[in-house]
Amino acid sequence: MSEKNILVVGAGLSGCTAARLLAENGYSVTVLEKRATVGGNLYDYIDENGIRVQLYGPHIFHTSEKEVFDFLSRFTEWTKYEHKVLANIKGTLVPVPFNMTSLFKLYPKEEAEAIKEILYSEVGVDKKVPILTLKQHSDSRVREFAEFVYENIFYTYTKKQWGFKPEELGETVMNRVPVYVSYEDRYFTDTYQFQPKDGFTPMIEKMLDHENINVQLSTDAMSLISIENGTVYYKDKPFYGKVIFTGKIDDLFCEKYGALAYRSLKFEFETHDTSSYQPAAVVNYTTTEDFTRISEFSKFACEPQEKTVIVKEYSKNCEPGDIPYYPIPKDGPRADYAKYLKEAQKIDFLYLLGRLANYKYINMDIAVLDAIKLVADITK
Ligand code: UDP
Repeated sequence: MSEKNILVVGAGLSGCTAARLLAENGYSVTVLEKRATVGGNLYDYIDENGIRVQLYGPHIFHTSEKEVFDFLSRFTEWTKYEHKVLANIKGTLVPVPFNMTSLFKLYPKEEAEAIKEILYSEVGVDKKVPILTLKQHSDSRVREFAEFVYENIFYTYTKKQWGFKPEELGETVMNRVPVYVSYEDRYFTDTYQFQPKDGFTPMIEKMLDHENINVQLSTDAMSLISIENGTVYYKDKPFYGKVIFTGKIDDLFCEKYGALAYRSLKFEFETHDTSSYQPAAVVNYTTTEDFTRISEFSKFACEPQEKTVIVKEYSKNCEPGDIPYYPIPKDGPRADYAKYLKEAQKIDFLYLLGRLANYKYINMDIAVLDAIKLVADITK
């Protein structure tokens, strides 16, 4: 086998981006995918009611990285889509990220006016502030407001989602959804906000459609790949190409340092006999209910149909057999990950890529960007 052979483990967005770019650079790429479908958790399909359903939960594309947008645009046309989310606070619906509209919905008008003026002067007009920063503000009136937002938007939702309090997770997670001292009501403020016109699955299929790419579905790479004394074996023979691994790194090393902690999700899908179930694509239940959020697929850049499909999302610790959705962004699990990383770094030609292999909570655009950078490194 020549050095221009590449094995990519996992046909998610990271693996497929790397596969495509390497194929275009003359590499012969084999993609091994455990599932019968491509796209990893991006997988979507049109159901019997004509609604595009995302089987592994809501995925919304947004980026400010032109390079990422340009790359993906080669494989799909886009539908303009600016994501909006409401929080259900004990029955009252307000925009999330919490903004000045949310403030006026929850406080009496005069009080809201007074808080808005304080925020404008003490924090700054159009500022985006992480809740944990706002809670430490020098002005006690700002802190009081922050406490209210913390209780109603972040505390219960975060406990449900992660099993930890916001402080225990820190700002990397909380920064994702800051408080807006403005009337901005979009969930994201990135330059490019679109959904693939025909869905994520066709986009990924087009990406993989290259003469140098061979995709093997329903193939558990872990039964074909092993690592002994720093050498990668593929089908029991030493492998002389490069391996890009996008799966769980603890699986790659047979959990020799123990299983890494992940958060998993349980989805409950429901079809309703109405064209609209809720007033936004996603409603977060930030104070009540056991589920974290309800997503309504026909509101994700799709045309409304006679029926509608929603999904309720429950979060849980990942147990054997569950899908690992989220690495845990805490020091303990990261230290456990570091032991595996050290092992991986000893192996020439093994590259780790993506959310699972890097044990990193990243968005789709960063998955693509990391893959672009990795391929640039491999081909330089
Ligand atoms: N979050 C929250 N309340 C909300 C929205 C988000 O407490 O209404 C917190 C929660 O801890 C969540 C994190 O912010 O896990 C990141 O939210 P995001 O919407 O980015 O999560 P994802 O869609 O990636 O699951």
